[in-house]
Amino acid sequence: MADCLFCKIAAGQIPVQKLAEDDQALAFPDLRPQAPTHVLVIPKKHVASLAEVADDEWPLVGALHAMAIKVARAQGLEQSGFRTVINTGADGGQTVFHLHLHLLGGRGMGWPPG
Ligand code: 5GP
Ligand code: ZN
Repeated sequence: MADCLFCKIAAGQIPVQKLAEDDQALAFPDLRPQAPTHVLVIPKKHVASLAEVADDEWPLVGALHAMAIKVARAQGLEQSGFRTVINTGADGGQTVFHLHLHLLGGRGMGWPPG
């Protein structure tokens, strides 16, 4: 999608450090990390948000989680734990409207989130 930041990253037009990649998804570090590990996992296909996932696209959401777990293991977070977050819409705190899953780890996380 034109003028979508994460579509440009998925297309390789904006270089990122690729932590994992397959035909459906890409994982790379967040520009403004909120934890020692803060990775974004995005679908290569443009989907605006979790609220915009079509009925036949739910396997893609599973694929994002599968990639996040692979990265968490590679970063040594499996024992200590980690958090996966998908912010959706204004109240959810979403700022980039291309679906993405945050993987956060390396410190204790508070609950409830602010
Ligand atoms: P959201 O608030 O939409 O859930 O998360 C968007 C995330 O994208 C934020 O954590 C923000 O730091 C990150 N981000 C915004 N622009 C860029 C960028 O150009 N490169 C990377 N790697 N992350 C970005
Ligand atoms: Zn996009």
